[in-house]
Amino acid sequence: MVQNKVEVQTPKPMMSQDTVKFWELLQEKKQLHLQRCSDCKTYSHPPRVTCHKCRSFNMEWVPSEGKGEVHSYVVYHRSVHPGFEVPYEVILVELEEGVRIVSNMVDCKPDEVYIGMPVEHVVEQTFEDISLVKFKRQTT
Ligand SMILES: [Zn+2]
Repeated sequence: MVQNKVEVQTPKPMMSQDTVKFWELLQEKKQLHLQRCSDCKTYSHPPRVTCHKCRSFNMEWVPSEGKGEVHSYVVYHRSVHPGFEVPYEVILVELEEGVRIVSNMVDCKPDEVYIGMPVEHVVEQTFEDISLVKFKRQTT
């Protein structure tokens, strides 16, 4: 009997008016960019309209090296979507800029992840029109 395996794609990220620039820069430049206040230089993530520190509307986009460490993580053993193969980890990375970003690892198994693990970002062309920020062990 021949079975046709149906490839199920992972769901695409949700975009809003506030976050669309983040996704555009990632797709076009293939580098992580973070939002920073032009007035007090405070970084924000996820992107927002105003600075959370000084309430300024003068937000700018600056490239980030995307280096940091795993602040926290969870390992999923039960899939919440057919596009996600278990087990997999979801990490919360604290970047050197002081902001945190949710992602996945690309170069290790879920049981190898630990809090404080030094990581750096990679840009993964997950969809034809959307790239995602993922992380690997820091090598430098
Ligand atoms: Zn500010």
